[in-house]
Amino acid sequence: MDLTFASFGEITEAVKSKKISAKEIASHFQTRIQTLDSKLNSFTSINKNALKDAEAIDARISKGENVGALAGVPFGIKEMLCTKGMTTTAGSKMLSNFVPPYDATVVARLKQAGVVIMGKLNQDEFAMGSSNETSFHGVVKNPWDLERVPGGSSGGSAAAQAARLVAGTIGTDTGGSIRQPASFTGIVGVKPTYGRVSRYGIIAFASSLDQAGPMVSTVKDAALTMEVICGHDSMDSTTSQKSVPTWSKNISANIKGMKIGIIKEYMKGGLDADTQKTFDESLETLKKLGAEIVEVSVSMTEFAVPIYYLVAASEASSNLARYDGVRYGYRADFKNLSAVGVEEFYGKTRGEGFGKEVKRRIMLGTYCLSSGYYDAYYNKAGQVRRLLTNQYLDAFKQCDVILSPVTTSPAFKLGELINDPLTMYLNDIFTTSTNLAGLPGMSVPFGLSQSGLPIGVQLTAGHFEEQKMLNVAAALEDASPVKGKRPHVI
Ligand code: GLN
Repeated sequence: MDLTFASFGEITEAVKSKKISAKEIASHFQTRIQTLDSKLNSFTSINKNALKDAEAIDARISKGENVGALAGVPFGIKEMLCTKGMTTTAGSKMLSNFVPPYDATVVARLKQAGVVIMGKLNQDEFAMGSSNETSFHGVVKNPWDLERVPGGSSGGSAAAQAARLVAGTIGTDTGGSIRQPASFTGIVGVKPTYGRVSRYGIIAFASSLDQAGPMVSTVKDAALTMEVICGHDSMDSTTSQKSVPTWSKNISANIKGMKIGIIKEYMKGGLDADTQKTFDESLETLKKLGAEIVEVSVSMTEFAVPIYYLVAASEASSNLARYDGVRYGYRADFKNLSAVGVEEFYGKTRGEGFGKEVKRRIMLGTYCLSSGYYDAYYNKAGQVRRLLTNQYLDAFKQCDVILSPVTTSPAFKLGELINDPLTMYLNDIFTTSTNLAGLPGMSVPFGLSQSGLPIGVQLTAGHFEEQKMLNVAAALEDASPVKGKRPHVI
């Protein structure tokens, strides 16, 4: 087994049968992080206890204990997720010294399943961004081309996974932050149905949209991760009571007779040539495999970006109000605290603690929620969001899964869009509606641009229909012209 590229199944099988110890595996990936990450900046901190944690798994195996479905698999975790005893900064100066005393449910479940946490992964500040250039920890580079962005906001997860500095990673997706970086780095990224994954212990950005999910190398590894992290949690009232299927066992690449929907309104051109070609080839492949292509209309997707930026900014302005420098997080330095008024205290603390993009969102969101504007912006966005969701529900009466591009182009250059927020926001044109409607969505690698950059295609399914989406993804993965292609850095 080539350890660097081993699947979860290969790793757990080898660890459980003692062909290799969890400690040796953890040590292998630790070395990769140490030697390669200086080029990428994907890790924000390393778990100093990783080898000890791995040893504990080996000890339990020796005692004949059941160590879980992902025994010995080394994972990196996005900075948004609380990890007991390890920094959880959300990529912000505001939380740069925050070490949570508890694990997010996702992290707790991964540990329970035998995963070894190798460290925390870089991201855009508070998950706001599409390029991983707004992080307090600095920009992350794309392992396929070090002059390009890895996408965002889960850019650290994407870069670390694409370079196989770990075997698996977790990202979060509020408007595309798992799928867009997955597409930019040639990995598989899944945002499950809203309510599948507990948000307990995940730093809140926009609570009605946020969802965590796997960013891994294969469709099967994604399914295996989801089986571990999904499911009801009494600590998050928005989690669904629905049982969690064993998706990995039921994956079938036989998609004969399945109905694949194409959104009419997405077919108006405007994609770069390589992205268009990748999309067209994926469609042809599905046809050849016996799927039926159906055109559906989701006309409200035209408004997805504006609705998203109103809803997400509004929720963010409310969620981020908690960072006041009083209880935890960054506090500005005041010479004589007792002489400082509340306004000055909050103003200086929040002014210094948050970066530019986060402040822009807080101002936008606060404006949308303020008296006199609430009905015109926040309420109206909510109404259009409902109409968009209804259109998707109708569309899924005509098809099983929707195929679309993930973005309009492959990874752009570092610095190219960072001073142009509106163009940056438009990057989310194909991803935000999935979050607004609460649907599951994923990116599967399917193409390479002329200049050798990976390009994914997006699959979206009806609520709780992840299996259908994973099956089509498996079919695409098998037929993918980029199967086995790897970035230069590794
Ligand atoms: N790029 C989007 C934004 O900036 C999505 C972010 C996300 O999904 N966390 O808000």
